[in-house]
Amino acid sequence: MNLLEQLAADDHEQVIAFQNRAAGLRGFLAIHDTTLGPALGGKAVILDHPGLKRAEAFEAYGRLVGSLRGRFYTGTDVGVTPEDLAAVGRGTSHVACESTPELGDINEHTARGVWYGMRACLEATGLKRVRVALQGVGAVGMRLGRILRREGMELTVADLNQGRARQAELELGARVVAPEEILFVECDVLAPCALGGVVNEQTLPKIRARVVCGSANNVLASPDAGDELVRRGILYAPDYLVNAGGLIRGAEFDLLKRADSSESIARIYERMRKVLTLAQERGVSTARVADELAEARLKKGKSYRDLYWGAPGEKLRSH
Ligand code: NAD
Repeated sequence: MNLLEQLAADDHEQVIAFQNRAAGLRGFLAIHDTTLGPALGGKAVILDHPGLKRAEAFEAYGRLVGSLRGRFYTGTDVGVTPEDLAAVGRGTSHVACESTPELGDINEHTARGVWYGMRACLEATGLKRVRVALQGVGAVGMRLGRILRREGMELTVADLNQGRARQAELELGARVVAPEEILFVECDVLAPCALGGVVNEQTLPKIRARVVCGSANNVLASPDAGDELVRRGILYAPDYLVNAGGLIRGAEFDLLKRADSSESIARIYERMRKVLTLAQERGVSTARVADELAEARLKKGKSYRDLYWGAPGEKLRSH
């Protein structure tokens, strides 16, 4: 499938391929849908390679984001450090960076949202003494681990980074297992907080959890994987529903100038309950219900004029 066909298939508005030779910057930026406002949580990928001059590259990327005049906001994700974000912030104001104290800790907001979603799932299953297998104890996983620990859960963790796994062992009293084992640990909740695609044809038959709920994006390798979880009696918390805490905070901070987003993040609990109820009533997967609800919100009478093209008077950062 070529790029234009792919854009049409997923109804994407825009994909930008970018490069800055001096900084060794190469990557892609994708904007899916701006019907409801700017693309917060739109995605960008920067290719890591030996010629990447990290600080210059992230700053140049920031300028590119700035050139979109608020049509796209960028932020943290896997492999991005606070220093990288600070460099992006030198190129654009359209970045959620940790150097903004009023924004709070984005990773913490995300972890909190995952916990709200998990709570709704636990209530639905009636689970009490809960064992959680946490894949990845990075920025979000570690914070989620702390919340779960406070809630009295028993934790098993794995991380490719042994230092992080060790920290979780010491700080959270977690049992550490090898990265290749974590998905198959016997537990009540499997919390993928590393990379996507972990629920797939190969892993599904061996997953021994009652609930799958974590922060990772694209947990399901395909929609079929969601259906297979239903057949196996495993409850799935849709990734973008439960991992939206940081995004909600970013949106309310940047667009609505709200000082606090605790209540909005807490609503992830009700949303998860709604999705669970609808899925049960209709006998379909939670993933499909969540997709339908989200698509219905985007697709009512969408037209070119409805899209968000950025604020015309917006000033770019000068240097
Ligand atoms: P991170 O890079 O800080 O942490 C990821 C951790 O997972 C790292 O410690 C890494 O070593 C580990 N890891 C990678 N592959 C692994 C494997 N196979 N087995 C075990 N450990 C592995 O990233 P993060 O910001 O914590 O994000 C985690 C996930 O949550 C990502 O999928 C991200 O897209 C998603 N997410 C993050 C946020 C956020 O606010 N940071 C928001 C929404 C979604």
